[in-house]
Amino acid sequence: MSILVTGGAGYIGSHTVVELLNIDENVIIVDNLINSQIETIDKIKEITGKDIKFYQVDILDRENLERVFEENTDIESVIHFAGLKAVGESVEKPLEYYKNNLIGTLTLLETMRKYNCKKIIFSSSATVYGEQATSQYVETMKRGETTNPYGTTKAMIEKMLEDIYYADNSWNISILRYFNPIGAHESGLIGEDPKGIPNNLMPFIMKVANKEIDHLNIFGKDYATKDGTAARDYIHVVDLAKGHLKALEKLNNEKSGLFIYNLGTGNPYTVQEIVDTFKKVNNIDVPYEYTERRAGDLTIMYADPTKAREELGWAAEKNIEDMCKDSWNFVKITKQK
Ligand code: NAD
Ligand code: UDP
Repeated sequence: MSILVTGGAGYIGSHTVVELLNIDENVIIVDNLINSQIETIDKIKEITGKDIKFYQVDILDRENLERVFEENTDIESVIHFAGLKAVGESVEKPLEYYKNNLIGTLTLLETMRKYNCKKIIFSSSATVYGEQATSQYVETMKRGETTNPYGTTKAMIEKMLEDIYYADNSWNISILRYFNPIGAHESGLIGEDPKGIPNNLMPFIMKVANKEIDHLNIFGKDYATKDGTAARDYIHVVDLAKGHLKALEKLNNEKSGLFIYNLGTGNPYTVQEIVDTFKKVNNIDVPYEYTERRAGDLTIMYADPTKAREELGWAAEKNIEDMCKDSWNFVKITKQK
């Protein structure tokens, strides 16, 4: 049996594929490489010593997506990472985001139904909680008001999956809400390397430490946190990847169902703590300045990870030092040869 991984050449997808190969699963990747590089496929093979099938296919391209299912009749489940994910860009290009994320997912789901494959894990985000009265999010909370088209696509896809399940409860669906993935595989061969100027904190820190950008702007010093900077639930990408294996195990043990899990550590860290830890564990300078708050940012958000622990037997194992060390190791291995 095979697992189809859409977006498997991307940051979280590639780490998940490595973990799947490590437990001897057969993996087929579909990725159009819009935000990833073909070299990642070779890196995955190098890390695991295993082979994978790779199709450079856009999930909007129904004909070629169907070909993947025709040529691989043993596809039993899908882990669906493929999507555009830059919050700021989604505000500027809403149509592109709605088209890629919504129509892409629709096309994938229709194709799965056609080939009678009804087991799917979907990459959602903590952003679907919106701004709630409390900042520790638990799955029993209703989805909140999203603040950008990217977040709206995640909320809409979650709703779509719920409707599909209620109409046909032979579907077996797991929705995983990620908090803030950072870090990289310990080999330093795969990690997050966004093109251009990064939006997210850790990729930005990595570029400043590597002297590609002269300093980091810390957005806001007047939040109601211990040091005035905003706090998030950062999770090591390898822990996150392992969460997918546990979610898949759960689906394999169930006949059908729709399950939602937070994947976070439950421990918030401030921007200042991340910067200070990165400097300390890597013994490297990261010049920074405090600037205005970034529009739309919340003070603090973090997961209640109890449900994933109790139902999946999953909990994050790596700490903030590991995350900072592995992020920098990826830069050292890939950029400083
Ligand atoms: P990524 O951009 O590194 O990976 C996504 C992959 O999907 C890329 O390789 C890209 O080329 C591919 N892709 C995009 N559109 C495609 C299409 N139409 N057809 C085929 N391939 C396509 O992003 P990531 O950080 O690995 O995120 C993976 C998933 O997790 C995304 O759905 C993202 O929204 C979600 N997510 C990410 C984060 C985060 O902070 N990284 C947080 C919450 C949720
Ligand atoms: N942040 C920052 N400077 C940057 C990028 C991010 O101070 O250059 C802060 C941001 O305001 C937030 C935290 O770092 O408080 C995490 O931001 P990121 O964009 O990585 O993730 P988000 O939680 O916003 O999805």
